[in-house]
Amino acid sequence: MGQIFNNLDPRFYIEGILGGDRTILSRAITLVESQNETHQTVAQKIVEGILASSGKSFRLGITGVPGVGKSTFIESFGKAVVSKGHQLAVLAVDPSSTKSKGSILGDKTRMETLSVDKNVFIRPSPSSGTLGGVTKATYESILLCEAAGFDFIIVETVGVGQSEVAVSKITDFFLLLMLAGAGDELQGIKRGIMEMADAVVVTKADGGNLEKAKAARSEYAHAVHLLQAPESGWPVRSLVASSIDNTGISDVYSMIEEYLRLVNTNGYFLMKRRKQQVDLFLNTLESLLKQRFYSDAEVRNKIENLKNLDANVQLLPFSAAKDLVDRFFKT
Ligand code: GDP
Repeated sequence: MGQIFNNLDPRFYIEGILGGDRTILSRAITLVESQNETHQTVAQKIVEGILASSGKSFRLGITGVPGVGKSTFIESFGKAVVSKGHQLAVLAVDPSSTKSKGSILGDKTRMETLSVDKNVFIRPSPSSGTLGGVTKATYESILLCEAAGFDFIIVETVGVGQSEVAVSKITDFFLLLMLAGAGDELQGIKRGIMEMADAVVVTKADGGNLEKAKAARSEYAHAVHLLQAPESGWPVRSLVASSIDNTGISDVYSMIEEYLRLVNTNGYFLMKRRKQQVDLFLNTLESLLKQRFYSDAEVRNKIENLKNLDANVQLLPFSAAKDLVDRFFKT
């Protein structure tokens, strides 16, 4: 990795990104993802430098269990997006992978046609960091892509853990891909994920599976109908699509256009983005405070001492906690 970063001058990256240089964009994303402190400092300057040129895109989160057809869908849907004149960036977040192997998203050739399209930038992000770290890296990667001229960003993640929750918090629209004929339990989709979705698309609606897919769509339509009406004023949709037959794909695109018309008119689009920024700020603040507090030697010592206190000695849990915090913030 060393030779990639023989240049750590933020201006080099800022200029490259603003000029639409994909190699430099790619390297900047690697810096944003890096845990190395020097890299993080440079990355922060880069993100600050491009911030004014970011934001002008539509951010679409896509999730679903492995095998639901995410990459095939994005291949097909991505072509529709590009045919409408967009510059598309696909960020594939894969929190299951480690630096070595075991990736759910990266262990096969994905999106072959899309990846050679000159209007498309695909970036797999194998990530083994904390959820907060993944959220920050993905959020900042989105900003970098936007500054490089991409106006349609897809963030793909595997619907098996926490990462889809994180992705829903940094995207404008959250699309859940589902299979027909498999119960929610079977698909590992928790109810919470369904509640985050702006639309459910039943995949593989072709051949002998078409009727089943339609039935599943009705079922999901009913399920999401029961959920509380979202504050966007957008009634959650349920669709069917086949990425192989290329049916239902343009419906997904039209639906997104419709969504954008609504939320741009009623002000929800900007409101949601601002709320996301504030939430990210508050979450980061909380985790930084915790980190700082618990890495303090005196704090750790005192906690250890309290844990090992003789059983006969009374401990006032609330006062002890308050004392410790007071002492830390006075120093
Ligand atoms: P991912 O793990 O969610 O990215 O799923 P993939 O896109 O790799 O698809 C998993 C399998 O489902 C592959 O064998 C695909 O060929 C197949 N598949 C994906 N989309 C469709 C579809 O629309 N129709 C049919 N019949 N098969 C599909």
